[in-house]
Amino acid sequence: MPQSENPVDSSSSIPPVAEDFADWRVQMANLVDSPGALEARSGHAIQWSSHCDVAGRRFGMLVTPYYASLMKAPLEQDPIFKMCVPDARELTPASWLTADPLGEEPQSPVPGLVHRYRNRALILVTSRCAVHCRYCMRKRKTSEERPYELDLTRVCDYLREHPEVDDVILSGGDPLTLDDFVIETVLTAIRTVPSVRIVRIGTRVPVVLPMRITDALCSMLRRFHPLYINTHFNHPAELTSEARVACEKLADVGIPMGNQSVLLRGINDSVDVLAALCSGLLAMRVRPYYLHQCDLVEGVEHFRVSTAKGMDLVAALRCRLGGLAVPVFAVDLPGSDCKIPLQQPYVTAQTDCATVLRNKNGVDLRYPEPRELS
Ligand SMILES: *Cc1c(COP(=O)(O)O)cnc(C)c1O
Ligand code: SF4
Repeated sequence: MPQSENPVDSSSSIPPVAEDFADWRVQMANLVDSPGALEARSGHAIQWSSHCDVAGRRFGMLVTPYYASLMKAPLEQDPIFKMCVPDARELTPASWLTADPLGEEPQSPVPGLVHRYRNRALILVTSRCAVHCRYCMRKRKTSEERPYELDLTRVCDYLREHPEVDDVILSGGDPLTLDDFVIETVLTAIRTVPSVRIVRIGTRVPVVLPMRITDALCSMLRRFHPLYINTHFNHPAELTSEARVACEKLADVGIPMGNQSVLLRGINDSVDVLAALCSGLLAMRVRPYYLHQCDLVEGVEHFRVSTAKGMDLVAALRCRLGGLAVPVFAVDLPGSDCKIPLQQPYVTAQTDCATVLRNKNGVDLRYPEPRELS
């Protein structure tokens, strides 16, 4: 645990250092939770509108001191600032944006468990996060006031009754904001269900609170293989040396690292930014997994990018980067039993004899089909 790594002797007459930001608990105890507090911490004056405070009250604001320290002036143009500081545009009414855009609540047979895809289930282990991302599709949970309760026994009973679920994803909220012993309790319980083969953790902690990835956490996690972690970097400005150390520590205990980004207007909707992000991630041993089209959640209209533009961006990445660096661009919609990839049509004609494929220069290439079919 971090405390034993950074011992603070409370019995000493010298008061402990008030802000040892190398300790993740100190970060969590000093979250920046209002635009005014951010202004005070950053020392930069910001042009606030009164609506910005209203948006902050409506959807909550939280930023770790570490993540806030990555913001650069002029703040209003900084990608990290835009991802976590309330904006008046969040209050723009749009009838197509809802609190639960994927219809998770009706597909939650047990509190804290979401079962939308046949062989996979999400366990929302906490509603807490280290940062409130403005575009979060689960902000109905993360801005919940009441204490979050997870009935692990009922969750595991459900998994036992549903042996078709062989892949369980710990999500939330952010599972890695929990203490080691809580994470260990959850993983131990899940590992008593024999039908669960793969366990994944979805977390933004390596991005926004990298000092949370302690040696103690890593040596605990490695006992639960096959364990995968999908993290959530959106911009190359997040690829700091601290984040690199966090990801490498997890990779070093054998956890394959993936990344799920969200395509966000004004933040990462350019080929240069996405290419720097994806190649930088690969160099940190984090494989770009998904680029998500924004879910239709309240407050995101100003972040949305057209699907056509997203498809062009990913097609350009495929030409520019090695295949390992290219994520799948996908959209999730209620009523679908998996995420749906969005891709430019490469196949222009398909018969029993041959398939015609169009490359990026518009050249059609012919691939003959196996003879037995014709
Ligand atoms: C995204 C998601 C998963 C995991 O999907 P993969 O494509 O396997 O990564 C599982 N369940 C739900 C409800 C999801 O939204
Ligand atoms: S860390 Fe994840 S769950 Fe938490 S606010 Fe950001 S996107 Fe939402």
